[in-house]
Amino acid sequence: MSYSAAHWQRVSDETRRMVAEVPLYRDRPVPPVDTGALRAWLAQLPSVGKRELRKGFPKSLVRQDQDLHAAMRDESVTLLATSGTTADRLQVIWEWSWWDPQEREAMRLNARIAKSMRDASYREAVLTTPACGAGVCHFGSATMAERSVDGMLFLNESQDPSAWTDRDVERMLNEWIQFAPRGIEADPAYLAVIARAALKRGLALPPPEFITLTYETTTRAMRRDIGRAVSTPLFQLYGATEAGVLFMECEHGRLHPNERHSHIDLMPLPGSAPLARVLVTTLGRPWMPLLRYDVGDVVRVAETRVCACGLVSDGPVLERVEGRQSDCVTVNGETVTPLMLDDAIHLALGAAATMEQWQLEGDVLHVADPKSRESAAVAAEAVSNLLARPIRGEHVSAVAPEASGKYRLVKS
Ligand SMILES: [Zn+2]
Repeated sequence: MSYSAAHWQRVSDETRRMVAEVPLYRDRPVPPVDTGALRAWLAQLPSVGKRELRKGFPKSLVRQDQDLHAAMRDESVTLLATSGTTADRLQVIWEWSWWDPQEREAMRLNARIAKSMRDASYREAVLTTPACGAGVCHFGSATMAERSVDGMLFLNESQDPSAWTDRDVERMLNEWIQFAPRGIEADPAYLAVIARAALKRGLALPPPEFITLTYETTTRAMRRDIGRAVSTPLFQLYGATEAGVLFMECEHGRLHPNERHSHIDLMPLPGSAPLARVLVTTLGRPWMPLLRYDVGDVVRVAETRVCACGLVSDGPVLERVEGRQSDCVTVNGETVTPLMLDDAIHLALGAAATMEQWQLEGDVLHVADPKSRESAAVAAEAVSNLLARPIRGEHVSAVAPEASGKYRLVKS
């Protein structure tokens, strides 16, 4: 990657302020004046993980000249819990006036989305865990109007999609039809449930101009079923509540960095595949700046930064987001990611696969497939080959999400 001189100057200015102002980074060496030496300086800094962010929160992350209580009183910031699985859950100092512009800017990296968003009648529906929908909670039975903010309709009201009743699902389908969103931002697992419900009922959903998938890893089965219900291009929007939107997928299937808002360092992982961990240094973020924060995900890096969409990215360009680092294993020196397991499962099941969900728990692969009981054994054999250990397939009626509302592909 080759970030521009202007980018490095920003990294220099911002990291200098972080080290001077933020208690968590106070013991870091002062960045070099020569921006040419910044890369080496960054590389020797310890990365920051979720544990470090939790320790001493929020004080350790507040800049010395900031008054958190005053900012919370005038509602310019709020303390928000992220929706991760228990071990991943974090509290975040969350600022709407930072989040919204950086998210929109990331979305506009995709030409099709940018065109949609330019239109005055642009409206968006959001389908995710209600706890993490843009800092607003929509638990309980609120009306459609109560779930609408700034042209955005939050479709979901309850935590666990496997507990959605027919009535819940039908309400969401009806609201989709009535609201006819131009864009949809969704958790892929949730959207797949809604898509299957629409297919089952023979409902024609008005297709939005784009769908962004975010919050969790998208499997092939999710993509397949969403695609059957609605003929709209699907794009990955990759970020985290605590770090902002880091990458946006373009119309040519590459994830481009949101580089005005973050500097990305990639830490290669063992094996022959171009896999890496993502370390983020935030840019232009007043509250809770991050310095080499390890998001905890594994990504597949694209061979080249040149992309057919024409967008020139100085930072790294990705092929896809592979899943949680904690869900990866190393087998004979090769890193195996959740999406590599997903690839192997779908390759074994073939194009006519009807499997909807899988979850690897220890040595058991749970497979939810309403049309076939045999697929569990076939999928387990594929996983077993990849992991080089015996895996037993078990047919289940559904895979439940964690208490947080997120699904896990791999559980130890
Ligand atoms: Zn592109």
